[in-house]
Amino acid sequence: MPLAPSLFVSHGAPTFALAQSVPARALRAFGAAQPRPSAVVVVSAHWQTPGLRVQAAAQPSTVHDFAGFPEALYRLQYPAPGAPALAAEVRDLLVAAGLPAQLDQTRGFDHGTWVPLMHLLPAAEVPVLQVSLPQMAGPALAHKLGLALRPLREQGVWVLGSGSLTHNLYELQSPQSPPAAYAQAFVEGVERALAQGDVDSLIHYRQRIEGGARAHPSEEHYLPLLVAVGAATEGERPRRIADGIEFGVLSMAAYAFGGVELAAAA
Ligand code: ZN
Repeated sequence: MPLAPSLFVSHGAPTFALAQSVPARALRAFGAAQPRPSAVVVVSAHWQTPGLRVQAAAQPSTVHDFAGFPEALYRLQYPAPGAPALAAEVRDLLVAAGLPAQLDQTRGFDHGTWVPLMHLLPAAEVPVLQVSLPQMAGPALAHKLGLALRPLREQGVWVLGSGSLTHNLYELQSPQSPPAAYAQAFVEGVERALAQGDVDSLIHYRQRIEGGARAHPSEEHYLPLLVAVGAATEGERPRRIADGIEFGVLSMAAYAFGGVELAAAA
């Protein structure tokens, strides 16, 4: 069985769930081109906990963890089943990697999970479980978390880091504003590091990649990228599967390590 992909997606604003935009269509095209995964393990910017937790409910609810958006968004459901047996396996993998983790029976899917999955896997039939981001996690720990999840890819499980490649909400502009220079520079710097397999620069992005500190006043939307990088194999380089900067400063970049490449016509 070929390795299932390790992915990083920028999940945008919650309204991305209903978008027909270029990045939305790109995620749909990517998902449609892949063999059906056996499950998806998601690390989202929107589930931070004091210690590592692994979602283990059989049927997680869809959590609308945002305020002030159009009513239609609050009616959306992503009824994918959970994966309790896989959750126990994931917990064991994490513990074996020196990352103590506990099962969580009550957690539902946050919007960092269900918003991009509505495009990637719209049928909501593939089991999904989330692994939390420890509140004290930095990029090195996020990378270690991804490394611990890497073996799951051999079982047809997608590893999906969901955040935002740039995420300074203090600087949001109108939806169609041109990209801010620092945001563009940061995206380009990250892509150079990804292309070179330069994990060290990705971990020390605040010092080493132009625009890093300004693009991420807090780190939680950047860390899922390091999870996806950690779950990549030695020498594996990602492909960009979506891009664009919305609201002037909000990158929609997404990358895939492995998986089926889209046909040249796509
Ligand atoms: Zn978010």
